[in-house]
Amino acid sequence: MLDAGLPVRAFFTDRRGGHSAAPYDTLNVALHVDDDPDAVAHNRVVVSEAAGALVTFLEADHGITVARIDEPTPRPPKADVLLTTTPGIALAAIAADCVPLLLNDPQTGAVAAVHSGREGLYRGVVDSAIAAMLDLRPSGAGAAGIRAAIGPAICGACYEVPENLRARVGRRHPVAVASTSWGTPSLDIPRAIETRLTELGVGPVLRHRHCTFEDTRWFSHRRDARTGRHAGVIVCEGPVGVSVPAPEDAAT
Ligand SMILES: [Zn+2]
Repeated sequence: MLDAGLPVRAFFTDRRGGHSAAPYDTLNVALHVDDDPDAVAHNRVVVSEAAGALVTFLEADHGITVARIDEPTPRPPKADVLLTTTPGIALAAIAADCVPLLLNDPQTGAVAAVHSGREGLYRGVVDSAIAAMLDLRPSGAGAAGIRAAIGPAICGACYEVPENLRARVGRRHPVAVASTSWGTPSLDIPRAIETRLTELGVGPVLRHRHCTFEDTRWFSHRRDARTGRHAGVIVCEGPVGVSVPAPEDAAT
């Protein structure tokens, strides 16, 4: 597991430490990928133990829907953002190439787990998540001090897409336009998310630059097709008072 680097308990799981057999080996947390449901349940317990709280796992809708979670549930509403201000609630976004994004506002105590792939980014899921976080702050407050951690995801050098798709996403997110290491059109979704967060005034933003396609410690749908999902997990610990981010905390 990879520490997310946020002020609250938050981490990204990898493939290790679970109970699933190949091709879901071993810590697959997704129920929708045809893995043995008992193994997935067992794996989710492993993740909840690491979180120190019962984790609610997001079921992505590939849109911009935000669901507020006030108590743990095995069947949350379909949404791309799970958000809570209730201390002790743990939320997880699951992915295998898409981006798991974790947010924490130390001022309000709010935490969010966001699933953002190409479509979510295009449709505005980052804006949607930050709008929901800002809604909890006093009216007119900016996003400074909201902390973000961008988890392992397929990188711009690997995520090949058709030229027309690159152009479509690039019209809204110019920094998403990229090329693969073999010279074909691609999209850099983590870079676009980082840029959008910064444009919205969020900071510091930490980007964990592990590429799921290249690094077999993580699941990759593009690499393996039939595979599991890892998780970005964040635990609500309540407000910690005024947050003044120090310049040396800023990361790229
Ligand atoms: Zn890569």
